[in-house]
Amino acid sequence: MLHKIDTVIVGGGQAGLAISYYLTQEGREHVALERAPAVANAWRNQRWDSFTLVTRSESFTSELATNRKC
Ligand SMILES: Cc1cc2nc3c(=O)[nH]c(=O)nc-3n(C[C@H](O)[C@H](O)[C@H](O)COP(=O)(O)OP(=O)(O)OC[C@H]3O[C@@H](n4cnc5c(N)ncnc54)[C@H](O)[C@@H]3O)c2cc1C
Repeated sequence: MLHKIDTVIVGGGQAGLAISYYLTQEGREHVALERAPAVANAWRNQRWDSFTLVTRSESFTSELATNRKC
């Protein structure tokens, strides 16, 4: 029997997992397809040894400023 599904997410990376989370919160049926053996493949397996953090500088510094006020 044919089962229809409204939403298909291609890729279980950061973006795909985030979309899946919010669809789940809304109770919307969906399926996520990932070609790698596990989700979050880039974060698990791709590394530049000299590259450790990608964050907007102002979010990092504003977090430090918030912590200083506490
Ligand atoms: C070498 C490298 C090192 C990095 N290091 C860092 C770091 O240290 N810190 C940091 O914050 N960010 C890092 N990044 C950036 C971070 O990985 C990306 O910003 C983030 O993963 C992007 O998420 P995304 O979901 O858009 O894409 P991706 O994480 O690339 O996810 C896309 C997913 O879709 C899957 N996919 C693609 N095509 C298909 C298909 N046809 N069918 C099924 N599945 C498919 C892929 O296998 C993949 O899992 C790095 C990136 C690279 C390339």
